[in-house]
Amino acid sequence: MIARVTLEVSIRKEFDYAIPEGLAGHVEVGTRVKVPFGPRIVTGLVTALVEASPHTNLRSIDSIVGVPGVVTPRVLDLARWIAAYYCCPVEVALKSVLPDSVRKENARWKERLHVSYLPPKGDLPKLSPRQRDVLHVVEEMRELPLQELLRLASTTPDTVRKLEDKGLLRIAPQVEDRDPYAHEEIIPTQPLALNAEQAEALDAIRAGLARAAPGAGDPPPKPFLLHGVTGSGKTEVYLQAIDDALGRGMGAIVLVPEISLTPQTVERFKARFGHGPRATSVAVLHSHLSSGERHDEWHKIRQGRARIVIGARSAVFAPVDKLGLVVVDEEHEHSYKQEEAPRYHARDVAVVRAAREGAVVVLGSATPSVESYWNARHGKYRLLEIKARATDHKLPVVRVVDLRLDSRRAEKGTPGVFSAALKEAIVQRLERREQTILFLNRRGYSTSLQCPHCGFVAGCPNCSVSLTFHRASMRLLCHVCGHAEAAPSACPKPECGHAGIRYAGLGTERVEETLSRVFPKARIARMDRDTLHRKEDYRRILGDFRSGRIDILVGTQMIAKGLHFPNVTLVGVLHADLSLHVPDFRSGERTFQLLTQVSGRAGRGDVEGEVFVQSFTPFHPAIQFSRRHDYQGFYEAEVETREALKYPPFSRIALLTLRGRNEDKVRLSAEYLRKELDRRVGAWPGIVIAGPAPAPLLKAESFFRHQLMVRCKAMSRLALALAQLEAEATLPEDVRLVIDVDPVSLM
Ligand code: ADP
Ligand code: ZN
Repeated sequence: MIARVTLEVSIRKEFDYAIPEGLAGHVEVGTRVKVPFGPRIVTGLVTALVEASPHTNLRSIDSIVGVPGVVTPRVLDLARWIAAYYCCPVEVALKSVLPDSVRKENARWKERLHVSYLPPKGDLPKLSPRQRDVLHVVEEMRELPLQELLRLASTTPDTVRKLEDKGLLRIAPQVEDRDPYAHEEIIPTQPLALNAEQAEALDAIRAGLARAAPGAGDPPPKPFLLHGVTGSGKTEVYLQAIDDALGRGMGAIVLVPEISLTPQTVERFKARFGHGPRATSVAVLHSHLSSGERHDEWHKIRQGRARIVIGARSAVFAPVDKLGLVVVDEEHEHSYKQEEAPRYHARDVAVVRAAREGAVVVLGSATPSVESYWNARHGKYRLLEIKARATDHKLPVVRVVDLRLDSRRAEKGTPGVFSAALKEAIVQRLERREQTILFLNRRGYSTSLQCPHCGFVAGCPNCSVSLTFHRASMRLLCHVCGHAEAAPSACPKPECGHAGIRYAGLGTERVEETLSRVFPKARIARMDRDTLHRKEDYRRILGDFRSGRIDILVGTQMIAKGLHFPNVTLVGVLHADLSLHVPDFRSGERTFQLLTQVSGRAGRGDVEGEVFVQSFTPFHPAIQFSRRHDYQGFYEAEVETREALKYPPFSRIALLTLRGRNEDKVRLSAEYLRKELDRRVGAWPGIVIAGPAPAPLLKAESFFRHQLMVRCKAMSRLALALAQLEAEATLPEDVRLVIDVDPVSLM
């Protein structure tokens, strides 16, 4: 038998190795192995077992790494699909499929010494009073960690050892799960009685699960798109659908965007499935786990001890056996796209994986992506709708404030942080002891430093953006590359040196400062990347807000989604235009989604909510449709534009970015690639090639970037051609080509 192996050193090839006698029968597809490669020993993965090889003089596999078969043939299959569709080597795709800690085996199970009680055979030997006390504790607890026993019985390891010598207890190492949520106290919940719309959605999903069940042999056809307004009880539908899947012996994966993976979200799942006849562990996978925690969660799933997985993007690869259901919550979120190779979109991978494993997939959102909604309208997905909030709470009233009028009224011609109307609304909330959320998607104090005398603007030396002033640290920061420098007190231009330097534009830090000046008695907290220093900060601030120790919470998009605080009756969006000015065909869609999500934080309790949206372009469709909670209206208008411009869903996009330190070389390489593209795919029907052109963010982290955009009807054939182009193109050594299929950002 011969093993075909892909190597981690990224080469688009597979190599054949002989299986030595000592390893015969232990090497399977999916086993990780160490093999000789040139003068080195490298790690790889067995992708196939074959009878014969076209090569002679095969070298032998050196050894097996870790648990055999960590990659199931199914997952391997999925990695191959990702490699082909997203134009990357299989080895690179496999890196995402397996967490690093599992792949590299650098994290192991954590073992602790446990003490367990052994019933005495015959008469109890003579014991000192102290030994008797210790034994009592062990007898009572049956089994407990040694450290805990020492604490409970105020004793020493020596005493415990003596009891072991007498055969009364056993001390042995035991594997312990590192549970990142171990200190949470979770109150069990029961299924809620569903309203008619929820029940209809659940029934449809259940019917799908019945067909997905082992032995049914009739795989569900289509993905579901669950479109339900914020607070419509989509999560309750997921919970009951998962329960149904468990009842049929199947497991489930729930994907949520990283920022929605709050303790609050995880708790809802643990609270439902921690008890009862279908009790199972809920594994949690996200990027903030330690590698040890990640290792344990992964194996808990692999061993079937956790049948439910909740996690961010990469959880789509969780090794759930008999996968019955995949939920992708907030399916429109861009964080589902990985921004480094493999550049996969977890929602789309979920759809592909579910189809291959005969599982049901449910995409949920209050603001579905235009692409998904289009799929639902055109019969590719099945649409399920929940139009009303689950409780009697109405959607909030949204008022759009025209900042142009407000700024004309303002004294110095610059608008304040909040309009008079919003200020009045905040005062009311403070008086009524209700809570307020203020949203501004820009951290820092002010967006730019400008000299009014010579016009100098402080820019980043590595990127084509201006630096943001952070007042707490008195520094200028680049939000692209992290470059930091001390903030000057006078114009740094030697020929100018003007002392009256100006800080323009608004950031969350300045909002917080202004608030505490205007409302000196209010308790104010800010949540953005600058205030979250430790893992615990996020939890602590939200905890304080929940328990009413904070009146006003200011924050970036971190606070825009998923949070459920019944006492929040006012939401203010300070500058709704920010996301509209991004040079991207999806900027309207992004703005609509963000405004809808943010507004959804208001009025989730007994008091009706109110939202103020401040804008310089108050009549923009994204703002007006979200004000009326009119998703359909927005969709119809948006689709019309997309069709006229041949953007998705009317095409698929591949974005080719060339990057390098020398701008001329980058530009010339881009021109050369254009010619190659014309020659290879230019004649295909329906293909549109645009560029080359400088990227909207021309320079980032010292690299210049030029782009080409290819649009076409179907991606698979184009992806193949692009992979070939990448392999064959002769680019200067210091110019790199990055291919992004289905990009979510055009920057
Ligand atoms: P979504 O996920 O759609 O934003 P949630 O699942 O968070 O909505 O539900 C919003 C609130 O409504 C939650 O507090 C939830 O417990 C409650 N809820 C959901 N379904 C029901 C129901 N059928 N009856 C009563 N309350 C419900
Ligand atoms: Zn920079």
